[in-house]
Amino acid sequence: METKAAFEVSEQGYYGDFGGAFVPEMLYPNVEELRRNYLHLMDLPGFQLEFRKLLRDFVGRPTPLYEASRLSERYGIRLFLKREDLCHTGAHKINNTIGQILIARHLGKKKIVAETGAGQHGVATATVCALMGLECIVYMGKHDMERQKPNVDRMRMLGAKVVPATCGSQTLKDATNEAMRHWINHPDDTHYIIGSVVGPHPYPDMVARFQSVISEEIRSQLLSETGSELPHAVMACVGGGSNAAGAFFHFLEEPAVRLVAVEAAGKGIDTGFSAATTALGKPGILHGAKTILMQTDDGQIVEPFSISAGLDYPGIGPLHAWLYTCGRGEFYSATDEEALRAAFDLSRTEGIIPALESAHALAIFDRVRFNPGDTVVLCLSGRGDKDLGTYTKYIDAFGGED
Ligand SMILES: *Cc1c(COP(=O)(O)O)cnc(C)c1O
Repeated sequence: METKAAFEVSEQGYYGDFGGAFVPEMLYPNVEELRRNYLHLMDLPGFQLEFRKLLRDFVGRPTPLYEASRLSERYGIRLFLKREDLCHTGAHKINNTIGQILIARHLGKKKIVAETGAGQHGVATATVCALMGLECIVYMGKHDMERQKPNVDRMRMLGAKVVPATCGSQTLKDATNEAMRHWINHPDDTHYIIGSVVGPHPYPDMVARFQSVISEEIRSQLLSETGSELPHAVMACVGGGSNAAGAFFHFLEEPAVRLVAVEAAGKGIDTGFSAATTALGKPGILHGAKTILMQTDDGQIVEPFSISAGLDYPGIGPLHAWLYTCGRGEFYSATDEEALRAAFDLSRTEGIIPALESAHALAIFDRVRFNPGDTVVLCLSGRGDKDLGTYTKYIDAFGGED
């Protein structure tokens, strides 16, 4: 028998102790149909050709690997930003939705359902549905609809139906529950496009593979910039973990490359208003997978909190739960305030307004130790246009002259 690489998913969908497919009986045929077909479909020459062509001509890949020279000088390292903020629709999410819409078409599905937090995944899904002429329904927490209004308007402009999720904290977890319920009720004609490396197998592996174009590009871009394909560290924010999984993917089996993940601490890890899953969570089952999640002693999910809608999730994908548990990944968290400061700082130091999510990864340079001159790649997962309403509120507090 062939031995699998240490961080590759197993036949049953496990990364170490985490993963699997814990789905209600009614969803089993759909998840099983996907599991049987995804690797085979993704390997078809025609599939790869169309996927690569759309990434190039529609998404705008490869995205630049930009050496942030002023920040590099400040931190004494060579800091490269992987510019996923320059993808069509403003974030890395579209790499995955392009892949999944092609899967849906190969499976003969006519309708798409999705969940969204910050609205970036919803916009990316509505975009590819428009591109392929498929019907699109997006569930979004009512609270998120209010704080990410420009993205709600974009989805509607693109022809999608946006349905508010009104349970719980009215954020991403609740939207995911509603989208899964919708899929259970429409199993035959509908494909569910999950937006991160979460959910039942094969979603975490399928999404990671689509997003792995990020680290594929980083390797070849670093080679021409620095003479080596390997950086000393790769950093990314983690909500569910898809931009991190994509940025880490082709470095997972390179032990010399540090993998640094940053979660949202909200108002602070011990305040009761946080989304720092590895710091606060325990193993359990969330949205169809065994992973680490924030829960009470009797297993009720704890409502997460983060100023950034894309990180406001009580769990992480099973790959990240395993990277954390086995020690391959280094996990940190940044508070709302630290992320806001980092967003203003990047805007004024490098002329790039980042998404609030990405700003979390930029906020931890005061506590990660690098050696002088280390090559560090940070995945700038998205741009800040959608967050301008939030940033504007803090412009006097954090945006003033020093
Ligand atoms: C959705 C989103 C995230 C968080 O999702 P991951 O699956 O953890 O990548 C991060 N950054 C941006 C810009 C997003 O839109």
